[in-house]
Amino acid sequence: MVGSEPVVVVVEDDPNISDLVELYLRRDGFRVYQAANGHRGLEVISERRPDLIVLDIGLPGDVDGLEVCRQVRTDSKTPVIFLTARDDEIDRILGLELGADDYVTKPFSPRELVARVKAVLRRAGADGIEDRPPIHELGGVVVDTGRREVRRDHEIVVLAAQEFDLLEFLLDNPGLALNRRQLLDGAWGRDWVGDERTVDVHVRQLRRKLGDDLPLETVWGVGYRLG
Ligand code: CA
Repeated sequence: MVGSEPVVVVVEDDPNISDLVELYLRRDGFRVYQAANGHRGLEVISERRPDLIVLDIGLPGDVDGLEVCRQVRTDSKTPVIFLTARDDEIDRILGLELGADDYVTKPFSPRELVARVKAVLRRAGADGIEDRPPIHELGGVVVDTGRREVRRDHEIVVLAAQEFDLLEFLLDNPGLALNRRQLLDGAWGRDWVGDERTVDVHVRQLRRKLGDDLPLETVWGVGYRLG
């Protein structure tokens, strides 16, 4: 971070959107740099070393938002909030497991985006306001909730944002048998629209990625229990 102003790079080809996002972020004390395509985005990101990147998925040219994120992720964990225009883009973000920190769907309210930016930075510990969130250790798995980072046998395991949220909620409730509704509401919020089977899908992913190192049990007729 340069000085006391958190730096945000906005990569978006629609100037109406990027100007509006910049206006709102500046008002809230952020320093903002814009880029209108993926190539330029990567340049500005490497020049400015932002605290957070707001990244449109549908960008002109051969480097779209997902590719920008992939390249950023090869050497940094800078938080990324995606701007998406369509549901299938959300599926692609989740499916590719790029480690996106959040996404908002167009059209969105700039206020809402600013709130998300602040929440993601708080989670990343960038503003130093909150105490450092806990680090959990379970067998060979270490979960750093502040950095949203999971390691298994010292190797980083990439989790999708929803998988991490589910794991974090389980960690906050050790030893409790939780049903799918509780897990849905607790991990992703009451306004999250989803089928309870979504929980099973994400549990399967967590088990696949973390294996026997994760003491996550199925409680028949109820749901799941961690630890
Ligand atoms: Ca676009």
